[in-house]
Amino acid sequence: MGKIDDEKVINGEGYQLTTLDKAIGLARANSVWPLPFATSCCGIEFMATMGSAYDMSRFGMERLSFSPRQADLLIVAGTISKKLGPVLKQVYEQMAEPKWVLSVGACASSGGIFDTYSVLQGIDRIIPVDVYVPGCPPRPEQIIDGVMNIHKLVKKESIRRRYSAEYKDLMKEYKIELKEDNVK
Ligand code: SF4
Repeated sequence: MGKIDDEKVINGEGYQLTTLDKAIGLARANSVWPLPFATSCCGIEFMATMGSAYDMSRFGMERLSFSPRQADLLIVAGTISKKLGPVLKQVYEQMAEPKWVLSVGACASSGGIFDTYSVLQGIDRIIPVDVYVPGCPPRPEQIIDGVMNIHKLVKKESIRRRYSAEYKDLMKEYKIELKEDNVK
């Protein structure tokens, strides 16, 4: 379990005081359930990352979810064709709030070397991305760095963010319907 990095935390003998935001952020960051959306070579690097040598269980993340409803981190690793785009968007939409997106590698982030008519030039054209991992392919250490950056975001996120006007506007921009009962 991580610790709460905040000068506002008050420590004393047998107790620790902090805000609800910080406590929930810490719990969420240490129980992220990833959904791997791996389509090509970057997916192989992701598989290596999940191997025992890199030990994702130290983050409490060894349990991959292939059901969007039981996942809160979408990891997109590989080339996404325009034909596959609607499928990726549907998977994102099926995930409950709060949810985060990690774009792994050049293809997912920008289309990579495939500047062609059939390849999506970055998944952020259809869904919002929280962290990008550069590389073709990125090494497992880079993927872990991306995951740790996601953890930082999760820890800092206010529990009210998903109800904010900015978040609603962001979803509107992506033409994603925000179901109120999906915001938890
Ligand atoms: S970024 Fe490179 S390694 Fe990753 S899917 Fe694209 S071509 Fe393959």
